[in-house]
This record gives sequence, C-alpha cells and structure tokens, in this order.
Amino acid sequence: MGNEVLLDAGAVSRCRRRVHLEHDPVMLGVPLSPPDPAAEQRIADAAAHRAEIRNRLVQATGDGWVTVPRELPSADRSRMTEQALASGAAYIWGALLPVDREGHRRGGAELLVRTATGYVPVLVVRHRITDRGEGAPTTELTDLDPANVRPDPARRVRSQPRDQLRLAHLRRMLQTLGHAEPERALGGVIGLDADVVVWLDLDAPTWPGGRTALAEYDSRFADRLAIAQAAEAGRAALAEPSRILECRRCPWWPTCEAELTSVRDVSLVVRGEDAMELRKAGVSTVDKLAALSPSDEPPVAAWPAEVFADAIALARAWLADLSVVRKVDRVEVPRADVEVDVDMESFGDSGAYLWGCLLTGADIGLEPGYRAFATWEPLPTPDEGRSFAEFWAFLSEVRARTAAAGLTFRAYCYNAMAENRWLFGSVERFAGAEGVPARAEIQSFVDSDEWVDLFRSVADQFLCSHGKGLKVVAPVAGFQWRDPEAGGEASMRWYRAAVGMDGEAPDPAQRQRILTYNEDDVLATHALRTWMTDRAMLEVPFMGDL
Ligand code: SF4
Repeated sequence: MGNEVLLDAGAVSRCRRRVHLEHDPVMLGVPLSPPDPAAEQRIADAAAHRAEIRNRLVQATGDGWVTVPRELPSADRSRMTEQALASGAAYIWGALLPVDREGHRRGGAELLVRTATGYVPVLVVRHRITDRGEGAPTTELTDLDPANVRPDPARRVRSQPRDQLRLAHLRRMLQTLGHAEPERALGGVIGLDADVVVWLDLDAPTWPGGRTALAEYDSRFADRLAIAQAAEAGRAALAEPSRILECRRCPWWPTCEAELTSVRDVSLVVRGEDAMELRKAGVSTVDKLAALSPSDEPPVAAWPAEVFADAIALARAWLADLSVVRKVDRVEVPRADVEVDVDMESFGDSGAYLWGCLLTGADIGLEPGYRAFATWEPLPTPDEGRSFAEFWAFLSEVRARTAAAGLTFRAYCYNAMAENRWLFGSVERFAGAEGVPARAEIQSFVDSDEWVDLFRSVADQFLCSHGKGLKVVAPVAGFQWRDPEAGGEASMRWYRAAVGMDGEAPDPAQRQRILTYNEDDVLATHALRTWMTDRAMLEVPFMGDL
C-alpha cells in the first residue's frame, strides 16, 4: 500500500496536515475551496515568463535543445525526458522525470543542463532571487555552464527556501536515475528579473543550525512520506490541523475550519507556533485558554505577561462572538483640523499606479472629497513618475495651505509599510523627474507626527479575534464596501483588464471599479478613525470586563 505514495517537491514545503488530507482516501470527493482566480493568474503569468526565458536561452545557446511539450500526457513526457537524458542532450526543457517508485518521488524541472559529468536542474521562477549586495554565485543569464560561476559584484542571494528544497528534490531524483552531476550538488535558478542565473550549492551549510539544503530536504521528506503513508493506509493521522498562515489560501480550509471549530481548537485565536506550545502545556482549546487568569504562570515560556493577557482576552472574545475588544480604557486617535486619508494601489513589484486621497476638515480653499492620482499606462511606465509627482504636489499644497492658515494637519493610511515602500520606491525610481521630491523630503514627512498609521492605532488599542485587516475592522465601525468582491487580489485582476495588460483593449469599466474600490478604502479609514474618536469607547467591550 505504501508504495502507492508519490510526493512532489512541494510536499516538503506544504502544511503537514495538507499532506495527510491529500493522501487520505476518505477525503476523496470532499468539497474544497474554489480555486483562487488570482492563483490561476499567477500560474498563467509564470507560464508566459517561462516561455520568454526559454526563447532567450535557445536563441543565445543554439543547438542541443530537447523541448518536452507540456501538453503531452505525463507518461509521454517522462519517456521523452528519459530518452533525452540517455542520449546526452545538452539542454532538456520542460523535463518530467520518470516516477521514482522506490523513493516515492515525482517531479520535473523547467530545465536540465548537462555538465561534463552529469545533469544539474535549473528552475525558472517568477519571484525575486537576488537583492542588491554582492557575492551571489552567478553566471550571465544565457551562460548555463556552472563551471563559469563567479561571485556577483552587484547581487546577493535572496533566501528562497522553497527553491532550494525543490532543487534538492530534483537532485535526489537525478541521483536515482544515475544522471546527477557527481562532483557538486548544484542547482540553478532564473528569477523574475531574468538578468542572471544564480547557482545554489545544496551541500553548503546555509540553513539554521548549519544544516545543508539537502539535509533539511531529506529530513522533511522522510516526515512527509511517513504522514502520507499513514494516511494512505488508514493508520492514525501523524498530522493534525492547526490554523496557520498557509490556511488562508489552502483549498482544504473548509474541512480544517469545521474540524478546528468543532473541537474549539486553540489555534483559532493564537498564532500557529504559540498554539503548538499551548497544546504541549495542555491548553488545547479556546475554552481552556479563556479559563486561565493573567495572574497564572504563562503556559508559553516566551510569552511576556501582556501577550498572555491578550491571548486570554482574545479567547474570551471568541467565546462571546466578539470580533473586536478594547485593550485600553480610552481609545485615542491623533486628529487635526485638516485631514487626508491616503491609500495606494500597486501591482506586485512593478509599481504604484494609484494614490487616492480623501480631503476632509477645515476649509483651506480646496475642494474637499476624494481625488485619484493614477497612471493607466501598463506598469512599468515612466508615467507612474508623473502621477506620483501630482499626488505629492497635492499633499504638499494641502500641508502648505494648512500651515499658512495656522491649522494642524494629519494624513492617515492603514499599514504604512505598503505606502512607505512606494513613497521611497517612487522617489528612488523617478529621481530627477519633474515634481518628484528628494528622498529627504519623504523621510521627514514619514518621520513626522503628521503621518499616522491607523493600523498601529488599531493594533495598540484593540484585540481582533478575526484579524486586524481593514476589511475586518472597518465593518465593526459600520462601514461597507460598495463592491462585494473588493479586495487586494481582486484588484490585481481588475488592474490587468483596466490597462489591457493581456493584450486586450483597456477596459474603462474596470478602471472605474478600481477607483470606486480605492475611494471606499479611504472612506473606510475615515469611518474607522471617526468611530474610534466618537463611539468605539461605548460600543466595544473592555477586555478586563469579559
Ligand atoms: S487549511 Fe490549514 S491546517 Fe488545513 S491543510 Fe490547509 S494549511 Fe493545513
């Protein structure tokens, strides 16, 4: 029975419970979450990226390529790959390795490259794999010979554990087939920027505790294999559900949520690692956590008293079906005579295409209400510099007029990390363009009391049993978005259509949809902070009273 189990490279990075569910025959046919449209888009983008890289590589390197078409049935693909390996093809694109039944592995690589003595896998991924710095072992993009690796003077490796584990998986499969490069456990990665190939040494002690990627992979693989085999054979589960970050996008969430809720699992109110510690201490349910007293010894050694008290209050809030409780006697938000709520929309790492502003408060001779500073040219575009400069000119004018009138000013956003990233990113990328301020000007604004991160105010003053996102908290203040699909992931789809990113005509209806969504976001922060000033004290129970 155990021989039936075959794991792909992703299994070693995946939630352990998911590996169990995927191999439990009882779970066949259980309803899963519908596929996330944003994930489908990411898959399509990755395919386009791979095709572009392949063309560049083939053009630059010439002969010696065998391309295994992805459209073929798996059996044909792996047979073709096996033949290409046996014939000593220099480059095998789209390789699907023959299933390793003994080792319980299956998998493929975007590219296998022949060295003097064997094959090394090369991944083509759509995330960043380097940062500015030095020392990354690289070759030029079209140089696929790992013998030419040099320390890069302009790049350092960005840690991407999944890439390393995937390369380790492929190396183990190539070893089984007798085709692995025997000298060094190397693997290459071509990332989103597609400017170099980064070559990773899977035998280097780059993991915590001086472990190598291969050692880490081997131990995780053994663990996941045991889980999968136990599930397949109907033995006692070796992995139980526990709410973790991965759950948000996991298709098994409906199953796990029902199970966690039915046992009132403690992970419903605390982080994944903390839940593990709590279970070890016997505090496995929300009820048991809620029954503790802040004066007890914290069951999680690393918990300061305040974190412990918050966890108890969160558990009590969950039992009382309250999504928000107050941590403080008095809720406070810094306010001013003239206020601007700011929300920025970006598209991945490509840029910030929209800065939305809601002007409210005292009359300073400018029309109050919502304004959008946007570029609708597909990112990346220099026009983004123009729209950013216009946004900054507006904000600067509001500040100048407010100061001239002897009034106070504040601007608000929800989670300044995102806005700050693109404030600084924009002045760097468009330095010298008309109207783009110097970095120091941005720095002084960001450091000032005039820039208020409302997310911080919420986190400091409330406990939120269903998360602290604006979409969760603003409804408590009575705010509703007009678009029922409103959300970061959906806006990515709308943006693609709005600018005609996929080769179709730009869709004005999707532009309007984004503008409405952005306007609602700033209206939401406005509603939230006015509620915090006026009503939160009366409407939200104090944690000490639960
Ligand atoms: S929903 Fe969460 S616990 Fe369940 S399988 Fe997915 S990631 Fe694991």
